[in-house]
Amino acid sequence: MKTNRTVIVQCRLSSTRLPGKALMDLCGKPVLAYVLSAMHKVNADHYFVATDEASYKDLLPVCKEYGFECFAGSLDDVLDRFVKLLDTIKTKTVIRATADNPFLFYEAAEESAALFEEKNNGKSHCDYLTYSGLPHGSGVEVFSAESLKKAASETTDPYDHEHVGPAFYNHKDRYVCEFIPSPRRFNFPELRTTIDTYSDYLRAVSILTYLKAKEYDAPYTTEQVIDACHSNIVKYPVVLVPSVVKGHGTGHLRRCLSAAKQGGFFVYIPEDKTLQETDTVVEEYIAEGFSKNHIINSIPDESYLPAIITDTFELTENQVRELSKNRSLISIDEGSRYTDYCDYLLDIIPSYKIERKANKTDSGFIIMPENVRKDSEDVDERKIDKVLICLGGEDPSNLTMPAAAAFRKKFPDAKITAIISNADSPYVDYAGGTNIEFVKPIPGLREKLFEYDIVVTHYGLTAFEAVYAGCGVILLPTTNLHKKLAEKYNFAYVGDSKISDSALQTALDSENLYAGKFLENLNGEKKSLGDFLRHLAAGKRMCCPVCGKYPSVPDEVISRNETRTYRRCSVCGMVYMGFTTIEDKKYQKSYFFEEYKKQYGKTYQEDFESIKRQGIRRAAIIKALSGTIGTSGEKNLLDVGCAYGPFLSAASDSSFNPFGTDISEDAVTYVQQKLKYPAVCSVFPEIDTAEEFGIAQFDVVTMWYVIEHFKDLGSVLRKVSSLIKKGGIFAFSTPSGEGISAVSDKDHFYEISPTDHYTIWEPTRADSILRTFGFRVERIVSTGHHPERFPYIKKTGAKPGSLKWNLIDAMSHAKRLGDTVEIYCRKI
Ligand SMILES: [Zn+2]
Repeated sequence: MKTNRTVIVQCRLSSTRLPGKALMDLCGKPVLAYVLSAMHKVNADHYFVATDEASYKDLLPVCKEYGFECFAGSLDDVLDRFVKLLDTIKTKTVIRATADNPFLFYEAAEESAALFEEKNNGKSHCDYLTYSGLPHGSGVEVFSAESLKKAASETTDPYDHEHVGPAFYNHKDRYVCEFIPSPRRFNFPELRTTIDTYSDYLRAVSILTYLKAKEYDAPYTTEQVIDACHSNIVKYPVVLVPSVVKGHGTGHLRRCLSAAKQGGFFVYIPEDKTLQETDTVVEEYIAEGFSKNHIINSIPDESYLPAIITDTFELTENQVRELSKNRSLISIDEGSRYTDYCDYLLDIIPSYKIERKANKTDSGFIIMPENVRKDSEDVDERKIDKVLICLGGEDPSNLTMPAAAAFRKKFPDAKITAIISNADSPYVDYAGGTNIEFVKPIPGLREKLFEYDIVVTHYGLTAFEAVYAGCGVILLPTTNLHKKLAEKYNFAYVGDSKISDSALQTALDSENLYAGKFLENLNGEKKSLGDFLRHLAAGKRMCCPVCGKYPSVPDEVISRNETRTYRRCSVCGMVYMGFTTIEDKKYQKSYFFEEYKKQYGKTYQEDFESIKRQGIRRAAIIKALSGTIGTSGEKNLLDVGCAYGPFLSAASDSSFNPFGTDISEDAVTYVQQKLKYPAVCSVFPEIDTAEEFGIAQFDVVTMWYVIEHFKDLGSVLRKVSSLIKKGGIFAFSTPSGEGISAVSDKDHFYEISPTDHYTIWEPTRADSILRTFGFRVERIVSTGHHPERFPYIKKTGAKPGSLKWNLIDAMSHAKRLGDTVEIYCRKI
């Protein structure tokens, strides 16, 4: 049936930013192929690609394959190109798409074309129509062929001629143009699917990686594209940076390629790589199905900022500066002294040189071979027929030859295979006529290890894999460190670099030849490195919430744990959460019911009276600091984060005039209705007290265990300062970063610190931080004294009330070692 419609896809190959992008490979097909297959779903009589003379020849085959005709016209006068094309056919309605949009919503195109036709049915008239609110790069334009010819003849504006739509919508006095807010199904204006820049191209690769993993076929439905855009693979791009430096071996590259294959990550291989085997290894993974679109040689820094994950052995200073720019830097088995730049450190291969603490140490991420020996049970009966000597291809200490010679002497009938980096090695001649075979690095070695009775290597990934494969494993002392590590982790090893007969015999006799003890560890839970890195990449990096900007040299790391990294700001001294993998907490209605009960074993309301007693004590301190109080209600006090109002009640009892604000609606309603104090539900600092309460400045502002929850502490403190009269009091309580728990076991303290505490206050530094906001600390009260948390009490087991206990308690008070602190300061 005739539709009187024509689909025209506008395309040229001479794009300035991404030349030839229409034909760029996107996961096995040119970008244009996706565009055409989507647009062919739209009902029409004709399907055209409108291009220029120069691009015509290259585009023709793709057009043909997808049922499109190819029309060549002017390169720059696109309007003329369309007019000339339309002169060759009879059609009413034109649906225009562009070739840089592989994820066009063909359903939206069909709907908007139908809407356009409806508007031109009968009395009404429309020249141009488009849906608004679609993802950038998923929409089309619909217009009348006749109107376009007219519009083209009426404009001489070069801009109108370089494009198509402006000939209509820049002349709205003459043409009826409709921008229709799209139906909800298509309405995602915050998303971007077009390919205009290199970053866009990588995003498109991620979208396709997701769609392919789901086994969807092009053309993709709206829901499939939206689903992909909201997936972690697209939202949190990852670039893995392996070492491709001569001397570091292929282990880093292989680990990154494996993880990238699992997680859909990009792998950065610079042009100036020096590792000889790089291309061979990459080809090997591509042959196994890893998409070559994921190998990149520059790191995007536009709109698609990836998390960077390095596996480089030792980062250089230039690398860390470059790679930590604007994005999370996560490093695996990192051995440099620049680890303060790293937001997260993951150690996989146990090491012992490294003193610094990693966020996580877990050898469960080592990818173990699937092929394992069947005879691992009775190793005593095993004959030694095949020996593999493998020192990473490069053999920096020249141990391959002495090892081969020693094994030949010991096992004259065994076949000895030694891996060397190149066939020109002097060893090759030596091997002539012997049972030693010299080979180049073996692709996919991990799955071939099980064929060998004994694997001779040094401390590293191959050793772990060979143990797992059930081979006998003997480690050689490539360096003194390698020797120490072999000993520490219960491997059979040869300690002398000449590989003497007796040293070899000792290793062969070792109860650790099959590294039994170690195998038990390796048999633990296997984890996917790709999945874990995906989880880390979704983590958030944060700067000092007081200062609000990233320093050029990273702030000192105070503590690392599995989900977070804490730093100290070099400018203001505040300790803050610099990285977290925990999602933002939503303070819902249930917060006070569930969270409080979980933490304290009773509901907040059940605790009301005891909290109020604390409040009366605090109110008395504030009262003393704020001078003689006259009649009741003279001094206005705002409690931020007032919850169910125990402090408001205490303040009222102490003759303050209390006002409350909280983000919990339930709590605010309770305060208003039961306690009858003025209160508003709002997110601090976004509150206008003049409007809510008719009070612009208060005599007192308080925050009890609230301040640590702010991610934007700087703006909070500025707001508090503006809310307090000169001479007024700001009082708050918070966990202390100088209490006994923090002092006696810093890492444990930070590990159990609630994941929504973004800053940790240290009483000794509070004054200098508060001064920049116009406050002077008047009084610090150390609270939360716990003698039982002191190592001395733990060790001696002294009971409450004993002399030792009382002494420690007194010391805790005197030295301000309480685990919480109250800070009272004055606006100056
Ligand atoms: Zn700071």
